[in-house]
Amino acid sequence: MLEIIQILVLNDNYIYLIHDSDSMETATVDPALGAPVLNELAEKKWQLTHIFNTHHHWDHVGGNLELKLKTECQIIGSKSDKNRIPGIDLTVQENDKIMLGNHPVVIIETPGHTLGHIVYYFPEDALLFCGDTLFVMGCGRLFEGTPEQMWQSLEKLKKLPGQTKIYCTHEYTQANARFALTIEPENEALLAKAQQVDQLRTQGKPTVPSTIAEELATNPFFRVNIPDLQSSINLQGVPSTEIFAEIRKRKDSF
Ligand code: ZN
Ligand code: FE
Repeated sequence: MLEIIQILVLNDNYIYLIHDSDSMETATVDPALGAPVLNELAEKKWQLTHIFNTHHHWDHVGGNLELKLKTECQIIGSKSDKNRIPGIDLTVQENDKIMLGNHPVVIIETPGHTLGHIVYYFPEDALLFCGDTLFVMGCGRLFEGTPEQMWQSLEKLKKLPGQTKIYCTHEYTQANARFALTIEPENEALLAKAQQVDQLRTQGKPTVPSTIAEELATNPFFRVNIPDLQSSINLQGVPSTEIFAEIRKRKDSF
């Protein structure tokens, strides 16, 4: 069994711990900071064995070196980021399979936010750790990649099973929902989810994880090829990549 712990740091960053109770292996995903991870490990009496980095931005790798020094964990990241992920030990690329105990983890390359961005997919556990590629009702800003690249990356994630839980690195959901409603003000699933998100945030609760199925119904960046969305912004029949680029541009200045 995997146990997942979600630690909120720096206002809107999530650090995850994934613990496999059979093997006693524990991974952390995108540790922005070391101390909160060390505190949680001490409390749980877990030993950190792996760091899974999705990309090189400081708010995802800031704790790498401290954690490696104190726990001797192995740091995993994209082959193309081998020179910009601190302390990287194992480089991975598309379709590589690594193990956390007996749980397979498949690497999916998702360039767009950065060129080296990867996500960690647990097919047998239906979990996806997607960093800054896919957010709840949103997607990452295009710092390095093109709209084409990001759309292709999202297309890969859209094909994962609907029940797959998505764990992204930021709590941006409420702002994403407000923007999504400017694109599809009449999307019933989106209206319902936005309301549910407001309730959770009022109670100070996380809105993450979501699922692939919920994103397919609500996330404008997942829906650029859907006729309902296209007609909602009067871009019927326009190529998906162009609509994606247009929505991303609107979000950047929202
Ligand atoms: Zn980032
Ligand atoms: Fe980030």
